[in-house]
Amino acid sequence: MNPKKIITYGSTTNPNNKAPYAKKIIAISSGKGGVGKSTVCANIAVALAQKGLRVGLLDADIYGPSIPRLFGIENEKIQWNDEDKMIPSENYGVKIMSVGLTTPKSDTPLVWRSSVAISALMQFLEDVAWGELDFLVIDMPPGTGDVQLTMAQELPISGVILVTTPQRLSTDDVSRSIMMFQDTKVPIVGIVENMSYFIAPDTKARYDIFGTKGAQKLSDKYTVPLLGEIPLNSDILMLSDEGKMPVVFGDDEVKKSYQEIVKKLLKFL
Ligand code: ADP
Repeated sequence: MNPKKIITYGSTTNPNNKAPYAKKIIAISSGKGGVGKSTVCANIAVALAQKGLRVGLLDADIYGPSIPRLFGIENEKIQWNDEDKMIPSENYGVKIMSVGLTTPKSDTPLVWRSSVAISALMQFLEDVAWGELDFLVIDMPPGTGDVQLTMAQELPISGVILVTTPQRLSTDDVSRSIMMFQDTKVPIVGIVENMSYFIAPDTKARYDIFGTKGAQKLSDKYTVPLLGEIPLNSDILMLSDEGKMPVVFGDDEVKKSYQEIVKKLLKFL
């Protein structure tokens, strides 16, 4: 028996719409943690805002929320308005909601069963004063779990972007994500290869530290577009650690690598 035939993901063909305030909903996902998904997600959101679009970012990476630090708002706490709605934090023109803003300290771990995590995310969709948005960008957790499935059921996702590094261990996991999103009928915008190559600052020689063409092979195998290749770049790491968005503070090459992805995203939509 074909094992795919017996997999049932629940109803994702006609999803609900828990975010009617957003014209488009974009999810950023990955197979593995640590591949730079949140960094790509944050910079895409800011690049969209740079185009004058109204952007909200929902950090759904419940157990590893890095969005607050990337936006330099890790010490902010959630506030409520008079209508008992949570007020999103805001930086770089993006409205942000993250479970990281609910914990007493930015490094407090969340030890939640997934049902509790899912309820928190539903509350972030329904009880946040997002206002009207052109884009709601969602930073998914890595993998193919509860959050991905729930989001596919509760939101009409316009497209998902998958982030991988070039090596097999990462691309194997992204294959699983591609298959899950194809099965759940979530349109795939394409794949971003992060930490794709390294250019030595002194000699300008290129080193493919994590291997070559990992994302290209995936793109060919699953006929999913390759949206961009972002170099391994110490500026991206250092700026991100300081809450300075690389697409704003990086050099032209860094800025362009994120802006090109957004160009392709807008074309896809
Ligand atoms: P994930 O969301 O996949 O777990 P993060 O976005 O949190 O990954 O990134 C993991 C680490 O890698 C962070 O320290 C981040 O600054 C760094 N990083 C991400 N992309 C790059 C890159 N292109 N070059 C150098 N460092 C990067």
